[in-house]
This record gives sequence, C-alpha cells and structure tokens, in this order.
Amino acid sequence: MPKMAHSPLPERLNFQAFPDRDLVLAGQMPADSMPRLRKAVISTGSSVTVDLQLVRERHGCRVDGKIACTLGLRCARCLGEVQVRVSPHVRLIACSSLEGPTETPEDYDLHEYEGHDLELARLVEDELLLALPLVPKHEDISLCDQGMIAWLGSKGRVSGPARNPFAVLKRS
Ligand SMILES: [Zn+2]
Repeated sequence: MPKMAHSPLPERLNFQAFPDRDLVLAGQMPADSMPRLRKAVISTGSSVTVDLQLVRERHGCRVDGKIACTLGLRCARCLGEVQVRVSPHVRLIACSSLEGPTETPEDYDLHEYEGHDLELARLVEDELLLALPLVPKHEDISLCDQGMIAWLGSKGRVSGPARNPFAVLKRS
C-alpha cells in the first residue's frame, strides 16, 4: 500500500488512474485554503491533520480515517473566541457523478463530486463543517469573558432556562 506520509497531500485524486486499489493519505492541509470553513469560523489557526485510507470500490472509493484541526469559534455564552478541537471520524463513499448511483453501506455517507477528480480539500472541508459544534462554548464558564457576560446579562441577552423563547413573538 503506497503511503504518502511525507509528501504533500495531493489536491486532486483520479481513481481511474490508481495503480493500486488502496491508498493512505497522511499529512497536513492548510485550513486557510477552505473558503466555506473560513466563513463559518472566527479563525483557522492550525492546519488540518489528515489521516485517511482510501479503498477503491467497484463504484467510487471508500474513505475511512480521521481528520482533525483546532478552530476559533464564537462562544455562545460570552461571544468571545473559543478554540475548539474538531476531529471527526470519516466514513464515506466518494463517488464521481459520472459513475452514476452507487450503493452506500450502512454507517457510510455519500460524497459525490463532479467530474473525474476528487478534490481532497473539498471533502475535508465538508467533513469539518459537519463536525462543527452547534453551540460552541468555553469549556467552563470561568474561562468566559466575565465582563462581557455581565454586560450581556444587563441587556437581557443571556437566555436562562426560565426564558420563554416565544416571548419575543407575543410582544409584536
Ligand atoms: Zn465564553
């Protein structure tokens, strides 16, 4: 199995051109080169660690492994920046739209791409976006910006359990 641990990760993969069935992609990828991810976060400080095994199937390619990176997100409690480690397990079938419909085993998602070439950064970006926490928060409230929490509290911006989310509708 060819291992590409010490060479740069390929930007594009054409599975028709595979000399072997299996491929291991391990290395780093700049998170800054992912425009949709950049828009979804405050900062993309670190690069993305990629460790994926690709196994050619009759249609498409099975992709298993892990990707990980640390991203700056907006804390829902104090609105400050919180560094969050995002490290989803990847289990998907990558398939060209040219290959037609493919069977996806249970527990696997489908990643369909246009044309002959799989864009690795796009696949990695998709998986990171899916793995972003819905409500990012500092791990402990003591890590939050206390001044900001007090200010938000005084403005009634911090929602407590007693607050009815539909109260705003009644006012209008
Ligand atoms: Zn916070």
